[in-house]
Amino acid sequence: MTTKPFHPPQRTLMGPGPSDVSPRVLAALGRPTIGHLDPAFVEFMDSLKELLQYAFRTTNPLTMPVSGPGSVGMEACFVNLVQPGDTVVVCQNGVFGGRMRENVERCGGTAVVVEGTWGRAVDAGALEDTLAQHPEAKFVAFVHAETSTGARSDAATLADIAHRAGCLVIADCVTSLGGIPVEVDAWGLDAVYSGSQKCLSCTPGLSPISFGPRAVEVIQNRATPIQSWFMDMNLVMGYWGTGAGRSYHHTAPVNALYGLHEALVMLREEGLENAWERHRRHHLALRAGLEALGLSFVVPEAERLPQLNSITMPDGVDDASVRRRLLVEYNLEIGAGLGALSGKVWRIGLMGHACNLTNVLGCVAALETILVSEGASVPTGVAVEAARRSFASSAT
Ligand code: PLP
Repeated sequence: MTTKPFHPPQRTLMGPGPSDVSPRVLAALGRPTIGHLDPAFVEFMDSLKELLQYAFRTTNPLTMPVSGPGSVGMEACFVNLVQPGDTVVVCQNGVFGGRMRENVERCGGTAVVVEGTWGRAVDAGALEDTLAQHPEAKFVAFVHAETSTGARSDAATLADIAHRAGCLVIADCVTSLGGIPVEVDAWGLDAVYSGSQKCLSCTPGLSPISFGPRAVEVIQNRATPIQSWFMDMNLVMGYWGTGAGRSYHHTAPVNALYGLHEALVMLREEGLENAWERHRRHHLALRAGLEALGLSFVVPEAERLPQLNSITMPDGVDDASVRRRLLVEYNLEIGAGLGALSGKVWRIGLMGHACNLTNVLGCVAALETILVSEGASVPTGVAVEAARRSFASSAT
């Protein structure tokens, strides 16, 4: 047994998440722990809820961080809303849509899957056709930003189609929140969940969620009790709800919540629109650099996420070796392909605090050096300049 403290290496996190955490967030984590029912903490919780409402663009009172990672947020949405026998149309165009399907089935529901193409947005026409064939459907679930491929779906259109068919919408906004517009109220997203570790620049382990009025009505009028005690929103509201009389539900991760609060304060200071614009501009610069290296994107331009760039690996290079060398020689983490894209693509994240020009230029330069030394035939000496030039010319 070792008694040495653990000092992790200082990496640059440009994979699918976690992404780099702001030093301000790391500093906030070390503030004094207080009781989760301390009056000062109760006041802090109200401020945190308001900041989350700002990030989600909602006035939903039931907006809060779930004490657990994005997967717990996902599960919280499904266990609260889906009852045994319910039909849920699940749009699947990557790994995380598959997890939604599993959640529906574990809740005793029937999942009708709209099978999409990996690397493409969810097909709105296919959703419309499926809903026409399943008038019994109660919910439509989709992933707004599919981290496994880098595809961005048109959440506003999908939600509109779902509502016209009389369904409520469950949307995964784990990778979208803070990086591209997420308009919970304007799009009428009934239940959404996100994650702290992507474009919010915070440490992993918390999942912001928001339930709209139609979802709250379902939760409060279920015929069957919610099978999860921990995630039952009727109980969680006793702690996170508004007004006096907050009572113990579970011991909140007090210091982790300080971190999320600080991350959201930073987002508020920057302004959501500016954060979206920052992700767009740096994505364009990264794209210019990668394309100058001869690398191509998996997702068509109109459906691409700025914060998750999936690129096809060049012929003849060893996936694991390139990623290991980036990590060891440059302290730079990029992501491997997942599921159907495993071994075929790299996923380069530009999320939150990690989305800056130093990282873009450093990543392009490191990739160029390693690809050349691994024997790939790539143009040399042009990529960094292409990225830099794109950045200079993309200011709006
Ligand atoms: N949904 C999406 C789109 C994700 O990218 C992730 C994580 O990468 C999750 C859900 C699950 O989040 P977590 O790993 O925090 O549990």
